[in-house]
Amino acid sequence: MSAETLEFKAELKQLLHLITHSLYSDREIFLRELISNASDAINKVRFDALANADKLEGNTDWKIKLTPNVTAGTLTLSDNGIGMSRQEVIDNLGTVAQSGTKAFLEAAKRAGKTGDAPGLIGQFGVGFYSAFMVADKVDVLTRAAGAPSDATKWESDGQGSYTLEATEKPTRGTDVILHLKDDAKDFLEPWRLRSLVRKFSDFLEHPVVMDVEKEVGEGEEKKKEVTEETLNSRKAIWLRGKSEVKPEEYEEFYKSLAHDTDAPADVIHYTAEGKTEFKVLCFVPAHKPFGFDYEEPVAGLRLYVQRVLIMDRCEQVLPQYLRFVKGVVDSADLPLNVSRELLQQNPILDTIQKSVVKNILDSLAGMKNLEYEKYLEFYRGFGTVLKEGLTRDWSNREKIADLLLFESANTEAGKFTTFAEYVEKMLTDQTEIAYLIGESAEQLRHSPYLEAFRAKGQDVLLLTDPIDEFAIPQLGKYKDKQLSAADRGEAAGVGEVPAGDKERFAGLLNSLKEKLPDVAAVRLTNRLTESAACLVADSHGMSAHMERLMERMGRDASAPKRVLELNPNHATVEALRALHEKNATDPRLDGYARLLYEQAVIAEGSKVSDPVAFAKRVNDLIVRDAQA
Ligand code: ADP
Repeated sequence: MSAETLEFKAELKQLLHLITHSLYSDREIFLRELISNASDAINKVRFDALANADKLEGNTDWKIKLTPNVTAGTLTLSDNGIGMSRQEVIDNLGTVAQSGTKAFLEAAKRAGKTGDAPGLIGQFGVGFYSAFMVADKVDVLTRAAGAPSDATKWESDGQGSYTLEATEKPTRGTDVILHLKDDAKDFLEPWRLRSLVRKFSDFLEHPVVMDVEKEVGEGEEKKKEVTEETLNSRKAIWLRGKSEVKPEEYEEFYKSLAHDTDAPADVIHYTAEGKTEFKVLCFVPAHKPFGFDYEEPVAGLRLYVQRVLIMDRCEQVLPQYLRFVKGVVDSADLPLNVSRELLQQNPILDTIQKSVVKNILDSLAGMKNLEYEKYLEFYRGFGTVLKEGLTRDWSNREKIADLLLFESANTEAGKFTTFAEYVEKMLTDQTEIAYLIGESAEQLRHSPYLEAFRAKGQDVLLLTDPIDEFAIPQLGKYKDKQLSAADRGEAAGVGEVPAGDKERFAGLLNSLKEKLPDVAAVRLTNRLTESAACLVADSHGMSAHMERLMERMGRDASAPKRVLELNPNHATVEALRALHEKNATDPRLDGYARLLYEQAVIAEGSKVSDPVAFAKRVNDLIVRDAQA
């Protein structure tokens, strides 16, 4: 059959263009990516063979072989893994299936052509294509397990198309042949390959081998002999004792596991003994990877059973809200041929999850207490994710609550407090933890809702994550202290106004209510000391922030109206009262009522519905005042 030429999918073309036309400083990562693909392929066939032993074809001498050929200028990586059928080659090497690809391209553009693109390539799971960083042509020869007569040859120069051809390959697995660029010929040097394998793939379970020529014998007997050298030590580092692993070994393992270019913020490595035995090695990343927000939010750890990889991402051992954690679990108790269905309700995995969660939360608490700066960087990236745990992990919510950081009315901008610190500084007669939710701490600091709290000397937590709106009310309490929204009708610190005021203002309040159909009620408050008016949600109504969120999501947020609260001690409110008393039908009252309402809308951080009419009302006032 003759070769067929196929086009790469558009996104992939863009990606390849970026890869082939950019200068990369650490392009050596191509080797890590290709070895990791080969290792995955071996794990896959080994796993599939548990159910269908025919796939092994009697070939279980698992290995990944590097063959540098100086004459041809090629470096070949061969594996005896699962291989690919023709269709799989098209699906896997002609498109980029990951939804993160667009995000990758955007991030890469942002990073600039000579910037951090190699780091990005790994993070976005476009590993195979990193071959084009060092090669101007790549051939892939592959044959799927259990299909001896269906081998395929894929060839491409990474310029937009590739060719496919049926071929013959006696052994199962994949050969990736890199025709190295002139400036990448150093990857043919055995010492270079040896050191790169040590660096990136030392812990890999499967041997990475290379044929080396050695001189053997003495004098006349001296001759050259080719032997196969294993380049990696293959020690699964999670099986070793903590004291036996060097920090740089942890670091390299983490980098290859997480496709990160930086060291992790924290390493969690322990052995659980007792009823169930397992070993855990997890890492907390130092900061959020580029792709994190674009990826599907799935959590998981690599699950091994006695060193055999069972699942790349076992969701049962790591809850979603800790999905930033990367790592492995090795269980001694699960059967090797455990099926995915069985894994779904396996009590051993529940035990593992409990233990993993406890250890991660403890480790984060330790980081927060002992390495605060590091924790801050971590928290900026993942604080929002961690908060999901408040609503999902009931048994650990106090521990999670203790990991949260907040700006507050009393903190300096950019500095944080915690629930515990807040409670410690509560006034003796204060019973509740007050919080205010909005877009930014800066804006919230100017909010009229803080006035009464300031007057009393009480602090208010300023919450700015969209998730706070759901998570904090769900938490409800911290220790025995009620959490209470400062912009709610019943907020702590807001009390009754004197009966005399109520009477004096009754007429004005009624008239305002009639003029303002947007509000549920108009009433007096002692919440304000400097502002004239503010809007509050009733106990069960939606807060202003929530309304804005709903509006942004395109939902109808007009449902529950809010209450307009007026400060009876404010000169504006008093002036309106006097005007109303003098002439309840004074036409100016209409415009003033709207202005009062609109300033409350602006103060809470929302937008007035008709900014042009608002501006006209203010301008009328200026004209009148200037001419008076
Ligand atoms: P990723 O490994 O992150 O999925 P890659 O671009 O590196 O992304 O590889 C794409 C796909 O091609 C892999 O998911 C795998 O299905 C297939 N593949 C790559 N290398 C091999 C190999 N050596 N053996 C079998 N399949 C492979």
